[in-house]
Amino acid sequence: MKDIMPINGQFAMMTLPYEALGDTISAQTLSFHHGKHLQAYVDNLNKQLPGSGLENLPLSEVVRRSEGGLFNNAGQVLNHTMYFEQFSPAPKPMSASFAALLADNFGSVEAFKQQFEQMGATLFGSGWVWLSADKDNKLVITQQKNAENPVTQGLKPLLTFDVWEHAYYLDYQNRRPAYLSALWQIVDWPTVESRL
Ligand code: MN
Repeated sequence: MKDIMPINGQFAMMTLPYEALGDTISAQTLSFHHGKHLQAYVDNLNKQLPGSGLENLPLSEVVRRSEGGLFNNAGQVLNHTMYFEQFSPAPKPMSASFAALLADNFGSVEAFKQQFEQMGATLFGSGWVWLSADKDNKLVITQQKNAENPVTQGLKPLLTFDVWEHAYYLDYQNRRPAYLSALWQIVDWPTVESRL
């Protein structure tokens, strides 16, 4: 995972690496999700960092060492950065070696996708479903509530789908499973694999 470094104790707002994601996530959702929700998390993180003793650490370390409001905002900045960066309007496919790794861990790529969608669909309330690698490079799927990130459990996060309602309500309303199954169309696999 490429970590995110502060500059003079402040984290910069990420720039989206695309302007649109076809029909999978509308421009309107991107505009609110990136421009309003993520911006608010970045602003609140930067307000709460001074005096915390965590000012010059990489973002994943802030997430590991903080709690309360600072944790919530730091976690959401890390989560959203990984979420937005893993998508592309022209995504590149999964490598044969990563497909084999998924098959070793979950039976098949299709079985992995089904299990990942199921974990996202059954997470109660707001949160994130994650694919991560443990210290032995075994792959695991976890449900993380609210702002949690698998780095707090010693895992290496690879792929995430945001299941907060703000991520899908404008496009899919209450149909979270339809949103989850549509996201595979825009996952840029080389980005995901580069985090391993
Ligand atoms: Mn979100």
